[in-house]
Amino acid sequence: MFEFNYEAVKWTDIAGRYITATDIDPFLDLVAPEFDVHKVGESVQGRAIKCITLGTGPIRIMMWSQMHGNESTTTKSVLDLVNFLRKESDLAKLMLNNCTIAIVPILNPDGAVAYTRVNANGVDLNRDAQDRTQPESIALRELYDHFKPDFCFNLHDQRTLFNVGDTDKPATVSFLAPAHDPERSISGTRALSMQLIVAMNGELQKYIPGQVGRYDDSFNSNCIGDTIQMLHTPTILFEAGHFQGDYEREQTRYYIFMALLKGVEVIAKKEVGLFIQERYFDIPENNKLFYDVLIKNIHLLDSSRISGDSAGILFVETLVDNKIDFVGKLEQVGNLDHKFAHKTYNCLDAKDLEIIKNNPNLLNALK
Ligand SMILES: [Zn+2]
Repeated sequence: MFEFNYEAVKWTDIAGRYITATDIDPFLDLVAPEFDVHKVGESVQGRAIKCITLGTGPIRIMMWSQMHGNESTTTKSVLDLVNFLRKESDLAKLMLNNCTIAIVPILNPDGAVAYTRVNANGVDLNRDAQDRTQPESIALRELYDHFKPDFCFNLHDQRTLFNVGDTDKPATVSFLAPAHDPERSISGTRALSMQLIVAMNGELQKYIPGQVGRYDDSFNSNCIGDTIQMLHTPTILFEAGHFQGDYEREQTRYYIFMALLKGVEVIAKKEVGLFIQERYFDIPENNKLFYDVLIKNIHLLDSSRISGDSAGILFVETLVDNKIDFVGKLEQVGNLDHKFAHKTYNCLDAKDLEIIKNNPNLLNALK
């Protein structure tokens, strides 16, 4: 295992879920004298889309985060990666000598401010890769065409409802080697994506055993990963997900950082080919079996409910006063024995019943 002090490279000026360009600009200004920081486009509302380019090596890696404005975890991780590369270490030197890395930390700065998945025109940029109707999509494609990457990292967050396979483990990190055709065949390009995922999964299993999932690979050419895979550039989808108790995604930030570090290391050392492609399919697929809160025997709280039924609640991330509130929303009532939850209460337990009765967020969800 690669030993080093993460706390020494973590860029602690940003934390939590609500991350905008204004939050990261001081960091970009700080690193601008050492690395190339330039504007690659403008958002619908005229915000700058910035790219940091690091290193001088022949292997070219391109990454973009926050294509979905409310998916900020990987933005925190890429800043940590840049900070790691600023500090003197043998590994950082190796990476910068062997690779040139272009990073767009926030592709959708308007969505970041509004805390929405979509851009200011209400368009999901991850369904706009073919038509490129939006300035953010055009900026990304122009960067791709100009930079000519050998590898692409497409960085996202996923919701708390994802679990790994049939287990009660949350999908803290999920990966996908996107398909390039409806048959989901395995081209040389896609095989490289799979091998790189196998390398990163091997690393992550040391920290979060059983908490890495494989994302659904149905083909959709409007998705950016599928499009770039069709252009024969190995592409990897990263999904930062839930770690137990970590709604601010500061733990997951670390795991994504470790995955990025491993991914870049393996590329820089030209070791991608050492990893066995078939092991990709050993990573269990994601499932959607989690609620944020499960309340058992709900009839003891609400007599109109059927005896023995449970209530499944998911949180809706809501922007309030520049921070994210996790507002409960009732998803389902019934026999939910096959489901898991990040927090379970049982109304048969007097203490649990008391907790729920004193929790306005849960009570509102149950109304
Ligand atoms: Zn996303």
